Amino acid sequence: DDRTGEKLVELAKRRGYFFQASGAYGGVGGFYTFGPQGAALKGNVEDAWRERFAVAEGNMEIDAPTIMPEPVFEASGHLDTFDDMLVECPDCGESHRADHVVEDDTEYEDAESLPIPEVEEVIAEYELICPDCGAGLAGQAVEPFNLMFATTIGPGDSQPGYLRPETAQGIFVEFPRLKEYARNQLPFGVAQVGRAYRNEISPRRSIIRTREFTQAELEYFVDPEGEEPDIDDVADVDVRLYPAAEQTADDGTVLETTIGEAVDDGTIADPWIAYYLGIAREWYESVGVDMDRFRFRQHLAGERSHYASDCWDAEAELDGNWIELAGFAHRGDYDLSKHDEYSEDRYTIFQQYDEPKTVERAVVDPDMSYLGPEFGADAGAIVDELETLAERDRTAFEGEAVEVDIEGESHEIPVEKTGFAVEERTEAGEHVIPHVIEPSFGVDRLVYTVCHHAYREDEVDGEARTYLALDPKVAPTFVGVFPLQSDDELEATAREIVDELREAGLAVTYDDSGNIGRRYRRQDEVGTPFCVTIDYESLEDDAVTVRERDSTTQKRLPIEELGDTVAALRAG
Ligand code: ATP
Repeated sequence: DDRTGEKLVELAKRRGYFFQASGAYGGVGGFYTFGPQGAALKGNVEDAWRERFAVAEGNMEIDAPTIMPEPVFEASGHLDTFDDMLVECPDCGESHRADHVVEDDTEYEDAESLPIPEVEEVIAEYELICPDCGAGLAGQAVEPFNLMFATTIGPGDSQPGYLRPETAQGIFVEFPRLKEYARNQLPFGVAQVGRAYRNEISPRRSIIRTREFTQAELEYFVDPEGEEPDIDDVADVDVRLYPAAEQTADDGTVLETTIGEAVDDGTIADPWIAYYLGIAREWYESVGVDMDRFRFRQHLAGERSHYASDCWDAEAELDGNWIELAGFAHRGDYDLSKHDEYSEDRYTIFQQYDEPKTVERAVVDPDMSYLGPEFGADAGAIVDELETLAERDRTAFEGEAVEVDIEGESHEIPVEKTGFAVEERTEAGEHVIPHVIEPSFGVDRLVYTVCHHAYREDEVDGEARTYLALDPKVAPTFVGVFPLQSDDELEATAREIVDELREAGLAVTYDDSGNIGRRYRRQDEVGTPFCVTIDYESLEDDAVTVRERDSTTQKRLPIEELGDTVAALRAG
């Protein structure tokens, strides 16, 4: 049913899952409030994520600020390149993401990787139209649009800052402290669950694309020459893979395989990515994503960020569209080397050799009597440049002179004045910039998917009913407790049961309004897995009726056993 999404959005508002924020003031696109059920479901999903990706893996978790100063984003590259392509409709004035307009034409699934002039050509050639009003977009200029929200820090506007567009930067920036907590031992992982902000050009599809959202990210730092993960742990996990080669083939298909096989036959080239795809697949299933509507899709070469050597997305099918739930990227040393270069701190780890090694080191020892008077204030900068060059590119010293750029001005330094030499030294180890593997999960999209995949319609006693078949592990309300009739004694007993279940740590709702059928329907829509009804017989036999949501079967249970039974059901 391609209308499930629409119906879900309606249910979500009515039952307190999520709704447009600031509605009283007309609302603004891309901001949503999670109501009581939604906030609880989201909290349960986040807890389950922490449990699996931080606690069970022995990774640490941090909580960094959401506003960071400008230099961080200069270093990370976001200021220059965190853009989407924008095209404005000449008729209605609505802005659209140009690559989304193009993507809707099936011939151009890979639109994200096309450069702006080519997107403009595609728009013209295929006479693509504005999704809002239908006006032709041909001839409209496509412009880059930076997605970061800017702000200023403190009074005045001297200190620009930005709301982080991903939680990851907080982890990368703090690496010099974090490596100390990890006692300078690789590998180690750092997780973070928190808000990220992107000024999306056209937020859409409810909480799937918003301007403020929650990410759960893990940055797993490894020695580039070091150990590989133990694939055995996930080798048997069944996965559906859509590799780049299949996407570009004429009759490309989704492969049904296992992680172990996919590693063996090279479909997943990076063992760390394979490892995380395996645990992610199992985790997604455990929180209620329908595995028949789930796959991993590899990024096409042009779609990858320039630093990523390989990248796979977890995708879920919703109303006939595949939506990205998470990205799994090998980011190499890109992030840490940028911060190492731009900041005052070191983003390296000292890796001890098994035994001391004799290594060659290129060094410089510039002739300051030459550099000093001749180059004045630039002399210091030139020495720094020469040192960096010696470390990175010895061939620069092979000619008569070395060329050094200082703030756009080029200087020729005779090689003999640089004191360049290659020395042999015995060293105990070396400083390396770790590589990083990043599983990056979107929480809001997952909450939406979990509700969407759980959305059911059936008939009970000849009446239509809607229910959310949420997994008890994440269901926001675990049990509903109802006195059958309005009666002091029934109500008092019901209240006692509520207290007892709440003491056992369960999320309980008490409801004594409306007929019992209506109360069941309400909890069905909320997705409450169990309801407990107290009737007159209960006062005689100390037993209650427990009704299960999906099957609607009912069973009598002694009140005494209720707490343990229900807690066991929750644990699964
Ligand atoms: P898209 O291509 O859909 O814009 P992306 O590839 O830019 O997403 P990433 O930068 O990889 O997304 O972010 C990691 C995860 O964060 C995504 O898989 C998604 O679940 C979530 N996410 C990204 N942007 C948004 C958004 N605007 N609203 C909700 N979730 C988002």
